[in-house]
Amino acid sequence: MADKFDVIVIGAGPGGYVAAIRAAQLGLKTACVEKWVNKEGKTVHGGTCLNVGCIPSKALLETSHKFVEARDHYDEIGIEVGELTPNIAKMLEFKEKVIAKNVGGISALFKANGVTALEGTGKVISSKQVEVTGHDGEKATYDADNIVIASGSVPVEIPPTPLTDNLIVDSSGALEFTEVPKRLGVIGAGVIGLELGSVWSRLGSEVTMLEAMDTFLPVVDQAVAKETLKLLKKQGLDIKLGARVTGSEVKGNEVVVKYTDSKGEQEVTFDKLIVCVGRRPYTQGVLGDDVGVKLDERGFIFVDDHCRTSVPGVYAIGDCVRGLMLAHKASEEGVMVADIIAGHKAEMNYDAIPSVIYTAPEVAWVGMTEEEAKSAGIEVKTGSFPFSANGRALANNAPDGLAKIVADAETDRILGVHIVSQHAGELIAQGVIAMEFGSSAEDLALTCYAHPSTSEAIHEAALAVDGHAIHMA
Ligand code: FAD
Repeated sequence: MADKFDVIVIGAGPGGYVAAIRAAQLGLKTACVEKWVNKEGKTVHGGTCLNVGCIPSKALLETSHKFVEARDHYDEIGIEVGELTPNIAKMLEFKEKVIAKNVGGISALFKANGVTALEGTGKVISSKQVEVTGHDGEKATYDADNIVIASGSVPVEIPPTPLTDNLIVDSSGALEFTEVPKRLGVIGAGVIGLELGSVWSRLGSEVTMLEAMDTFLPVVDQAVAKETLKLLKKQGLDIKLGARVTGSEVKGNEVVVKYTDSKGEQEVTFDKLIVCVGRRPYTQGVLGDDVGVKLDERGFIFVDDHCRTSVPGVYAIGDCVRGLMLAHKASEEGVMVADIIAGHKAEMNYDAIPSVIYTAPEVAWVGMTEEEAKSAGIEVKTGSFPFSANGRALANNAPDGLAKIVADAETDRILGVHIVSQHAGELIAQGVIAMEFGSSAEDLALTCYAHPSTSEAIHEAALAVDGHAIHMA
């Protein structure tokens, strides 16, 4: 029998590694099992987020954005750069370096905090035992007073477009193209599809996005979604709504995609196709027979508000449980669960989790949209402010977008904040903090903001809730 731990965490993504570090910081003897191996055959921490998700996509979004800024916008501000060409090999090299730094950082944090890193596949075989199958097939069983499952998610595949090596790919494949595809198809105009479509469009692909739904970004406040659609179309993304993909055929180096829209059956040919239709929970092989951990009807591990599964002492967090599939949501659940295991009182505020789409401009929101609030029967008042009237945005040559605040008409309490603008992903933290503290729109309106800053647009939107923005006629 191998070691006994207070906590064993299965999965070292942003849910699992954060839970493990926090548990160790609270004095619990902690191990974290991870099965992910990189191209060199080395076990790597960080999960989807660090290896094929948040971090590599942001590295390519940043490099491709800088390229477009230099090529298309530097001359507007008096910097002449001549002709520019992207060096894709170097961009991919940069992305790999960023991944390596982040992944290496987690391993260092495990060491510094005394987390035992177990390499291999973890399986819960009873409420107090985890079996780990090493990469060499050797099995070992570890006892634990508490188990945290953080096994994450994987991309959804759809029958009309089965993945084929380097031609029809998922989000991970789309981070690996070694040259710019001339004609690129993206199925799904959600968060990940828009980000990956933007990367390759900026680098020169003609991008067509096929989205089955008639509404663009239905989860986003529609004033912000409409503005975003207008701006992304202006950048050259051909976003087709109400386009339902029905089949595909690989012909040599091309893929022909069939879809139906309001005009009937359509066909379009691409050099590469990215399938980005969502992600599903990954629980394969994590639960032994008769452990008693229940899944819900969609395959997520069933948990309560404190991430407790149906078996006492076994918790589950992150993408493998209900809620937003976001790294920071997974991490916060990891902290909450570690705190609970250590005997502290801990809660999560699921109403104040920000979402960001890292297009240019970025789209970010927290809380309720105007549409959601109204359909929940809440009377609302709203205030919006365009970045074209913000001095700093003009000085940044980034005047696109707007900020909008949705507040309860009766109490003035902020219900949601919605932004499309340069750096919206940073600005949204103000909305998150305001909501976490239960602020009213007036609280933000009475706050002194630095000038000139793009944050002033949030201030003006808060003033606009009562109809008194200063810099708007
Ligand atoms: P994961 O990160 O999926 O980690 C799960 C880990 O568990 C993996 O390492 C896996 O190998 C391991 N594992 C599974 N089963 C076992 C087992 N039996 N034994 C041992 N190990 C196991 N989110 C954001 O918040 N912001 C973004 O900008 C963002 N961008 C994204 C871009 C892309 C292209 C993608 C694909 C995702 C993006 N996400 C983003 C989503 C984010 O990556 C996930 O929400 C996040 O990684 C979930 O964390 P997790 O810890 O629950 O799971």
